[in-house]
Amino acid sequence: QGSLVCVGTGMTLGSHISPISRNCIEQADVVFVLVADGITEQWIESMNADVRSLQPYYCEGQSRMLSYQKMLAAMITEVKAGKNVVGAFYGHPGVFAWVPHKAIEMAREEGYQAFMEPGISAEDCLYADLGIDPGTYGCQHYEASQLIFYQTLLNPAAYLIIWQPGVAGDRSLAKFSTGPEYKALLLEVLLQSYPAEHEVLLYEAANLAIQQVRLERLPLSALVNARIDLKTTLVIPPTRPMAPNHAMLEKLKQLEQQD
Ligand code: SAH
Repeated sequence: QGSLVCVGTGMTLGSHISPISRNCIEQADVVFVLVADGITEQWIESMNADVRSLQPYYCEGQSRMLSYQKMLAAMITEVKAGKNVVGAFYGHPGVFAWVPHKAIEMAREEGYQAFMEPGISAEDCLYADLGIDPGTYGCQHYEASQLIFYQTLLNPAAYLIIWQPGVAGDRSLAKFSTGPEYKALLLEVLLQSYPAEHEVLLYEAANLAIQQVRLERLPLSALVNARIDLKTTLVIPPTRPMAPNHAMLEKLKQLEQQD
């Protein structure tokens, strides 16, 4: 009677998918797939006889929101036709991804069963490849454009992970990259919280096992002309130590004296 599951295929071809996600793909009546490259698409095609790529819905010069609406419509149409539909998305389907969340919400509103299976995201690979723990100093995640569009309280004592820096500042949602003048706006925002010479990292996880991880260190000020594309994530390490909260420490001391 129609259902929808959005699964994650992980970052690296063939090796990151969970058994449950693979099972969902194998059992589905129809699989819609949105992954980083054609080889990954072919790999998903080997798991089910009816795999349809959502990639053609992307079109430079057209708002991504329109592409997303068309992807949603394609998926929901099949759910309504009574099919057990799977949406397979690279990484984690719920991390910096609009379509899977929206599709599940819409399917549920229409009375269908819908849920999400997590996957290994760029974030997960980042912690492993960079050897950082989000719990050590805390960790903030923002989309690059949001940092430009909205006032944001950044905490320079914690990590800052910036997603989609390649299209920073693109309000049309129609570009596949934005130029140095847009990156300069992102830099301007970051300079309010970080020194220009602060060392930041450009990170790209391997999509294929044969690929190298990209891990480039550069001063924050070099961001404007750095090579940043759709799969680059920007990592800003903390610049200052965590500041002790003396008022709370004092209250704790009193509590401990009562123990
Ligand atoms: N759902 C995906 C993220 C989609 S948003 C996930 O779970 O990872 C797209 C953004 O993810 C990119 O702009 C980039 O910031 C990040 N990203 C995608 N592929 C990446 C890769 N190979 N390495 C590092 N970051 C990546």
